[in-house]
Amino acid sequence: MQGWLGAGGDAYYKDKLVELQSSANIPARWHGTPIENFIQAQNFGYPLFPHPEPQVLISTCIEFRYSLPVPNNYAYVIRTAGGRLIGSEFAVGYVLARGVKNILLVAHNDCGMTKIAHHKEAMIEAYVAQGWSRAAAEGFIQSHAPRYAIKDELDALEQEYHRLKKIFTSVHVAPLFLYLSDRRVHIPKWYCDFIQQGLPAGTSAVADVEIKQLL
Ligand SMILES: [Zn+2]
Repeated sequence: MQGWLGAGGDAYYKDKLVELQSSANIPARWHGTPIENFIQAQNFGYPLFPHPEPQVLISTCIEFRYSLPVPNNYAYVIRTAGGRLIGSEFAVGYVLARGVKNILLVAHNDCGMTKIAHHKEAMIEAYVAQGWSRAAAEGFIQSHAPRYAIKDELDALEQEYHRLKKIFTSVHVAPLFLYLSDRRVHIPKWYCDFIQQGLPAGTSAVADVEIKQLL
């Protein structure tokens, strides 16, 4: 199936994702939520309609091959290199204060953040072309790469899901994985297993020290 083919032509993720071929495949816990609406828009072309209140926060990658299927007056969107929310917790706090109760984490295959080593030299040259010294450019990449570099897009999604749930315990976080070849989202199998076991409900206290460690 073409939709499973990664950039390298392998089916690396096939056994790690659950395909959403119709609305019937959407987990019951997402029914009637902006998460279900987003999946229906992304995968099946359903329209999303403007709303007086923000419906959802969508966190995804800066990836130029993907544009979100959302209208104005619908979603807060944070796009970062790699699509993770680390470093954006201030914005998350604002969004939650505006009444948003759902966060969509949309990862994708063939992410450039898995290839930082490959792009590093060109990035250094890019900074140098902007007037930076080579030492400053190298030092900047050295210190910031750990926050953005990922080894595996699906593993990074799982880690970010669990990190977020440790510091934002009562907001609903939905991890989705988008294939650039057909631009459909899928559910990670680990998440399906997770919800079958039963997710912890409600708010629990977060230790101050843990917040400092996880931001
Ligand atoms: Zn990416």
